[in-house]
Amino acid sequence: MRGKRSRLVTVLTASLALALSACGGGGENQLGGGAPEIPVDQGVQFEPGTTMANLKQAGTIRVGTKIDQPLFGLNGLDGKPQGFDVEMAKLVAAKMGIAPDKIEWVEAPSKTREEIIEQGRVDMVVATYTINDSRKQRISFAGPYYQAGQDIMVKTDNAQITGPETLRPTGAKVCSVTGSTPAEKIKEYVDEQNLVLFDVYSKCADALRTGQVQAVTTDNVILMGLVEESGGQFKLLEKPFTEEPYGIGIKKGDVKFCEFINQTLAQAGQDGTYAKAWQATAGKVSKQTPSLPQADPCS
Ligand code: GLU
Repeated sequence: MRGKRSRLVTVLTASLALALSACGGGGENQLGGGAPEIPVDQGVQFEPGTTMANLKQAGTIRVGTKIDQPLFGLNGLDGKPQGFDVEMAKLVAAKMGIAPDKIEWVEAPSKTREEIIEQGRVDMVVATYTINDSRKQRISFAGPYYQAGQDIMVKTDNAQITGPETLRPTGAKVCSVTGSTPAEKIKEYVDEQNLVLFDVYSKCADALRTGQVQAVTTDNVILMGLVEESGGQFKLLEKPFTEEPYGIGIKKGDVKFCEFINQTLAQAGQDGTYAKAWQATAGKVSKQTPSLPQADPCS
């Protein structure tokens, strides 16, 4: 599993340079829309008492996602988020008979994710959410449905910062987000006083633009969207140095819901829905369509 994930990161990274240069940057933001409609399974039946049965009965689902991350979760002009995460959530909802317009989207900044699941303010979180053991103490994860890797974004003309090990020697101020895995990992490479933490990544992009920080660090696919949005001002180093398997966060111990989500993902991986969701969103920048990673056991 580990080796496979590493290879996926490498493959994705190799495709980034090509895709980014081909796309240019800037312009109208179409980085998440246009995904094909997923058929809503109206006749589906579930065992009474399960989360699936309850949600189907309610006819609605509350989904925590990002709203400022192009390619994965970015609010469109209609106020609804678009992106690969959003498509994954729509897919799960559709398999419970819930149409996309019946989804209630809840903004889920990184540090709030476990809390909103625990408090029952959302039914699931699909938000560039890395599966890890410390989070698993509070919530459960279905998936993974994607494998990202932490990377670094700098201004296009920055030739000094070439990898995480160059951050300390160059005295760079580095921005990331509170409650994220990259904010923790980067502490190996940056002194505390040079680490700037916000609640969302769009604020890090602003800080890079204005020169308050010299680098932004998080998952490569999040940075890829911000690079695309920058219209040539920013670049990605394309040297991922962690593995970030994205899972769907649900209430701790809801094994039946986890298994249902994993089956839904597996089917989408097989019937091409997963690939189409990628191509309509993140695939507009990263042309290499990933294959669905093997699901972890539910617990
Ligand atoms: N995947 C990482 C995490 O879950 C970084 C992305 C994010 O903050 O959403 O912490």
